[in-house]
Amino acid sequence: MVREHRADGTEPTDRWWGSYAARASGMIASEVRALFAVASRPEIVSLAGGMPAVDALPLDAVASTVADLVTSRGRVALQYGSAQGDPELRARICDVMAMEGITDAHPDNVVVTVGSQQALDLLTRVFVDPGDVVLTEGPTYVTAINTFAAYQARVVHVSMDGDGLVPDALRETLTRLAAEGARVKLLYTVPTFQNPAGITLTASRRAEVLEICRRAGVLVVEDNPYGLLSFTGEPVRAMRADDPDGVVYLGSFSKTLAPGMRVGWALAPAPVAARLVLAAESAILSHSMFTQLAVERYLATQPWPEQIKAFREMYRDRRDAMLTALAETMPAGATWTRPEGGFFIWLTLPDGVDAKAMLPRAIAARVAYVPGTGFYADGSGRNAMRLSYCYPPPERIRDGVRRLADVLRAEISLRQTFAPLATTNPRATNPRATNPRATNPRATDPRPAAPRTSDFRDQ
Ligand code: PMP
Repeated sequence: MVREHRADGTEPTDRWWGSYAARASGMIASEVRALFAVASRPEIVSLAGGMPAVDALPLDAVASTVADLVTSRGRVALQYGSAQGDPELRARICDVMAMEGITDAHPDNVVVTVGSQQALDLLTRVFVDPGDVVLTEGPTYVTAINTFAAYQARVVHVSMDGDGLVPDALRETLTRLAAEGARVKLLYTVPTFQNPAGITLTASRRAEVLEICRRAGVLVVEDNPYGLLSFTGEPVRAMRADDPDGVVYLGSFSKTLAPGMRVGWALAPAPVAARLVLAAESAILSHSMFTQLAVERYLATQPWPEQIKAFREMYRDRRDAMLTALAETMPAGATWTRPEGGFFIWLTLPDGVDAKAMLPRAIAARVAYVPGTGFYADGSGRNAMRLSYCYPPPERIRDGVRRLADVLRAEISLRQTFAPLATTNPRATNPRATNPRATNPRATDPRPAAPRTSDFRDQ
């Protein structure tokens, strides 16, 4: 063991302090984590977490499925399986993806993973060396940023608007990175009902993004845990449906069945799938046969499409409650997205309001949200926040939004009182706002991004 002393001569309390790998050394707890511990108290309306409403699951049906599984196939369910996953489940996963237009998927190209989170981890492990670039929407899914950072990737955001990722911005970013000599490995995108912005990439942009990435030799990672939760009932065609070689598709049963099952998957071109299986072997040896078969049996014996329909209706009512409450209560200058599915609304605050600075006051007022900066690798998103409508029932959502609007009004009036001391122009406070390299302050910094921990474990 390497024994190190701090500059003041004291020994660190962690005996192994000097032994950690470089990639672990940047893992620091976030400043807002303590606040989230408080936010789980019952008196606080949490619009922060992205937890699916599992109360809406028919627990009796889950119980009988699991009981049947143990009695009829217990010896298989309780045994080791393969790292690629159970073949019957993989075949069923292909049927699930057909609902989103993926009709050519073969079970051999499916790798079952411990939630889609593990698929993301395995993919990063097999594609990304320290310093390689991963492109993502800005904002993007917080735990994806953490995964990329854990492998010392350089995360570069590409801007989005109401129609999703902006193709011109993607082209410009690729040109700039090519000029720098950067190695761009992946475009990570959540194109449908995005976490955190609730935005869906339009069909024409999907084709454009695929074409840009094909020309640039960049693999597209389509992360799609919310795709079946469309409020119109119309499924959105997956990007993978139009580009079997250029896209790795990630799916999950976490939002359409139960996250506790921890069953997700990757559909990948054959050589990529083979590498993912090798990586999975070293990570977990074998996925849980028990939960894989429980999911497979549930899909085979229960009216799962009806269940998804019930989830969709429930989440749509919650989304409506939040949209109505926002329209009724938010002060001028606040804007928000209008998701057509999924769990999240992105709220942009009037100029100059800092969502992270405001969070302790919101929690004191018994409402919690996730500040926008959590969804960027570069400190952007200060005047934004993610609001989740998935978990609290509509009346709690309405209460939470009302409390949030009151806190925001107080914040704005405080700013107005102290206007001469404060700057209302974000361009003056945020040099990135005028800097064409805004999407990535590390654009000229060869250091890999520091690994971080997440405040929002369930998202
Ligand atoms: N991707 C996105 C965009 C998510 O929001 C989540 C979880 N909320 C995941 C991946 C991981 O989901 P799981 O591991 O439960 O499948």
